[in-house]
Amino acid sequence: MTLQTYSTTRPLYGQVAIVTGASRGIGRAIALALARAGAIVIVNYKQAETAAAEVVALCQQLGSRALAVQADVTQPEAAERLVSEAAKLGPPRILVNNAGIAKTGLLVDTTLDEWRTLLDHNLTAPFLCTRAVLPHMIREHYGRIINISSIWGIAGGSCEVAYSASKGGLIAFTKALAKEVARSGITVNAVAPGAIETDMTANLSDEARAVLREETPVGRLGEPEDVAQCVLFLASPTASYLTGQVISPNGGLVI
Ligand code: NAP
Repeated sequence: MTLQTYSTTRPLYGQVAIVTGASRGIGRAIALALARAGAIVIVNYKQAETAAAEVVALCQQLGSRALAVQADVTQPEAAERLVSEAAKLGPPRILVNNAGIAKTGLLVDTTLDEWRTLLDHNLTAPFLCTRAVLPHMIREHYGRIINISSIWGIAGGSCEVAYSASKGGLIAFTKALAKEVARSGITVNAVAPGAIETDMTANLSDEARAVLREETPVGRLGEPEDVAQCVLFLASPTASYLTGQVISPNGGLVI
């Protein structure tokens, strides 16, 4: 990075950033935060084409280039295609593995199909996207990989055993890969949010919401922007000494 290209107001100027699951919720906020910082944002989605197009339009209004790419990131060919589409705009320097799904219920009621679907989304998809992007980053001797885990991946959540296992696995993936690629100028970190207001938490009952607020020291659920700001920091060129770490924007719920 030369002084000519580094700007403190647009620290990610011209850097290609892939955000999986960026049509809604946390991924959308991450895409907009990266765009505000000057990145060229690849807005990945699975189904929500109109929502993804809106995110692209907002990124452009923020003065950045952006491109929506439909890809089911649980599929190897789709993950490869996502990265190749991104690479047409320049070497991908930032990957945010954000796409994910949740499922609540007792472990004894969890079917093998449900277990596999959850693991496919929350652990296999980050593996596939990371494997596709790494050759580009190694060639450039630079990369920022940020995996969106969860507090349940740290602390374990009752009635969310499969989800907790997938997100805990993602933390182990983060730590191991951080060691493997550090000498290639690539950092790998995880962000493990607490309860954040998105479609994923929209079906929480008023009672459950009140309990969460009560148990969270800052007294509120999180907003997608709370997560996006952590990702923005980890994605910056200046965060080069931080790798294999887990940052948990959770309002103090898990300390
Ligand atoms: P969300 O509102 O349900 O949005 C999910 C996003 O993932 C959507 O953009 C969706 O695309 C995309 N997606 C799902 N499956 C995909 C696939 N196979 N291929 C490509 N994209 C796919 O979820 P969120 O709450 O923002 O959660 C984002 C991440 O944060 C997840 O990994 C989640 O586990 C994690 N997280 C969330 C919370 C929370 O409280 N919300 C807390 C901790 C961690 P479409 O719109 O096209 O369907």
